[in-house]
Amino acid sequence: MLGAIEAGGTKFVCAVGDETGVIEQSIQIPTTVPEETMLKVIEFFKQYDIESIGIGSFGPIDVNPESKTYGYITSTPKTAWRNYPFVQTLKDIFDVPVGFNTDVNAAALGEATLGAAKGLDSCLYITVGTGIGAGAIIQGNLLQGHSHPEMGHILVRRHPDDEYKGKCPYHADCLEGLAAGPAIEERWGDKGINLVDRKEVWDLEGFYLAQALMQYILILSPKKVILGGGVMNQSQVFTSVYKYLPELLKDYVSLPELSGYIVRPGLEDRAGITGSLLLAHRALKEQQL
Ligand code: ADP
Ligand code: ZN
Repeated sequence: MLGAIEAGGTKFVCAVGDETGVIEQSIQIPTTVPEETMLKVIEFFKQYDIESIGIGSFGPIDVNPESKTYGYITSTPKTAWRNYPFVQTLKDIFDVPVGFNTDVNAAALGEATLGAAKGLDSCLYITVGTGIGAGAIIQGNLLQGHSHPEMGHILVRRHPDDEYKGKCPYHADCLEGLAAGPAIEERWGDKGINLVDRKEVWDLEGFYLAQALMQYILILSPKKVILGGGVMNQSQVFTSVYKYLPELLKDYVSLPELSGYIVRPGLEDRAGITGSLLLAHRALKEQQL
């Protein structure tokens, strides 16, 4: 049996299941402080005979196996979790292999293996929620360099009518600062869910996301682009992206029909936890080599 953790800034999802994506049991735990949240995580997994654990975590995290702080959550704005040795904590208790990657890389792996990009050797998974992040599978591998990508913080051109200052504590008006859920809420004075009838809100959202997608597509050329996260529940955002992206790209590169190319997660809200099960499976296989 495999164990999986989707560690988010608001909640942790823990599950046990297998590499075909079958989830036998799962629980949700609020993300408070490590002493409290991790106690419940450990209690959950102690009920099962798990062979390995996969973690898809909020970040930034250290994914470099050569690093002294490999397996840590590093410079997160959530101060209680800063410099938290996530992998070692679990290894000390369960003595099993632990796979560790970002939440969005896990989701990309889930979607590429069992979801909307099943059968393809590349895809890009983007979440637009409390933050914006993306993970990519390229030539069958999770894209990783010096560290993991941080695609939510790229710069975009501001809309001439948009005077909102931006929400990112590091860059103010980067993509996340202008287009994540909290930015929508602050700019328009209400939660996204209450702005359904305000067309201009979702048009502007697509205006920013289309710019980001243009850059991701030009650089990575993924075979499928998957957009998840709470904000993408507004289907109007897809409509706006389908409008703005061709205006920006101007047929410079040929893309498949956009409605089949830029899509919702095939695994719906299970992309991250399913990908974390796959990370667990990979960790187990690597140990057996
Ligand atoms: P998280 O990013 O914390 O994992 P979500 O992906 O659900 O969680 O993102 C939460 C953000 O998405 C919040 O800012 C919330 O206002 C926004 N959001 C959630 N549901 C909707 C919706 N149906 N329409 C618009 N915005 C939404
Ligand atoms: Zn930023």
